[in-house]
Amino acid sequence: MRAAVCREIGQIAIEDLDEPTPGDGEIKLRVVATGVCRTDLSIFQGHLPVPRPIVLGHEGVGVVEAVGPGVTRFAPGDSVVCSIIAGCGECFQCRRQSSALCENVTFYTGKMLDGTTRLSKGDEEIYSLSFQASFAEKAIVPERSAVRVRSDAPLHKLAGLACGVSTGLGAAMVRDPVEAGASVVVIGTGGVGLSVLMGAKLRGAARLIAVDRLPAKLEKARAMGLATETIDASTEDVVATVQSLTGGRGADHAFDAVGAPGTLEQAIDAVRPGGHVVLIGLASNEGGVALASGALLRQKTVTGTMGGSIEPRRHIPEFVDLFLAGRLDLAGLMDRAYRLEEIGQALDDLERGRVTRGVIRFDD
Ligand SMILES: [Zn+2]
Ligand SMILES: [Zn+2]
Repeated sequence: MRAAVCREIGQIAIEDLDEPTPGDGEIKLRVVATGVCRTDLSIFQGHLPVPRPIVLGHEGVGVVEAVGPGVTRFAPGDSVVCSIIAGCGECFQCRRQSSALCENVTFYTGKMLDGTTRLSKGDEEIYSLSFQASFAEKAIVPERSAVRVRSDAPLHKLAGLACGVSTGLGAAMVRDPVEAGASVVVIGTGGVGLSVLMGAKLRGAARLIAVDRLPAKLEKARAMGLATETIDASTEDVVATVQSLTGGRGADHAFDAVGAPGTLEQAIDAVRPGGHVVLIGLASNEGGVALASGALLRQKTVTGTMGGSIEPRRHIPEFVDLFLAGRLDLAGLMDRAYRLEEIGQALDDLERGRVTRGVIRFDD
């Protein structure tokens, strides 16, 4: 099968790998499409350590081609979205509906859940990103991170629901559910930030304040009907502007979809006393946050989310229903399609901000 293999930092190329076989509790997918996410880019650029050679890609959707031993919930022909959340369903966290915090999953090992690899090229072992490795024609995925979705949904449009879009929607709908009438600040309006705004809008937020440093991204948020106000962080004082837009009180919720030095502090200062701040898992590992004790005494809640804190088997089908009802503009988010051979271009376009979110399609 053809796969995009990353052998060194900054290098990726199409290679012919052996046809993979699903192990216990795993399914084999014919990949229909896969999103190109910032995490893929970070690994490609060497910011997140992984073993190589590795096949990246973790926003896959596809059709079940075969099932391994012990698989009970899937059969060939099923339509599947591969969640990045692979909760075991049995540990302390999974039993309390926090699959994103599963105690039995370690990310970025390049291996499957049982600690072995599934991809190979002759004698050579090839690693897989996030139990998916969906920059390939076929993918082996654990049953427990696979979500069956309606067969009438156009699969290639759902790739974002595996990671980025679900993370954003989940942040505003599950992790910190926005109230009807609330004012919401979202810092960073790439694919995840726009998805937070979509989630907040679906929840009935009255004010959607989009913050970014690139005017084109703010324009996109407006064009999609996802911003009632925009703030250009390269020229405006974010906190002062939010304060003045909210009558000096501050916003009810702020979501930091950037995680750059200083952005979380901005989010904390932009919310009112008693307001909520959510860091979405994009932060670089450097730095940390300077948290003023006063913010806590003013009863501000500061937290974060892994993957939108969704329960994939419950929430992803709900998101698909919203999409099919015309209430989720996934096409507006996934705004450019590529062939697998164009993966280098897709990563470069994401890096340079030429796309909101690219998607690799295999079905053309
Ligand atoms: Zn991702
Ligand atoms: Zn678990």
